[in-house]
Amino acid sequence: MKCKICNKILLGRSDKKFCSVKCKNYYHVNLRKVTDRQVKELDTLLHRNRSILLEVLGKRKGQITVDRVVLEKKKFTFKYHTHLHINSKGKIYNYVYDLAWMEFSNDEILIIRKQ
Ligand SMILES: [Zn+2]
Repeated sequence: MKCKICNKILLGRSDKKFCSVKCKNYYHVNLRKVTDRQVKELDTLLHRNRSILLEVLGKRKGQITVDRVVLEKKKFTFKYHTHLHINSKGKIYNYVYDLAWMEFSNDEILIIRKQ
């Protein structure tokens, strides 16, 4: 086996991946940099989506129903969410962190704050 960073032949345990702490650290710092770069764009969109939901919902309300166009005008990105919840009636809640939205057939959107 060879070091994943410098290709030096590895001695000792067969599950070793790096020749030294230096190479191991280099690998993990680099991995983090690549990950940060790859996820940044989507993180930004998700954060913006959450801000838009919060702005429309307001700080005090638990839920609100608005026309879809209200979110569209604010450049809400409907396809990105953090997770989904399907309730007993089969309706889908699209979560953006702690806030969620659900679409009705009449182009209205329900925005709720997670209890
Ligand atoms: Zn190495």
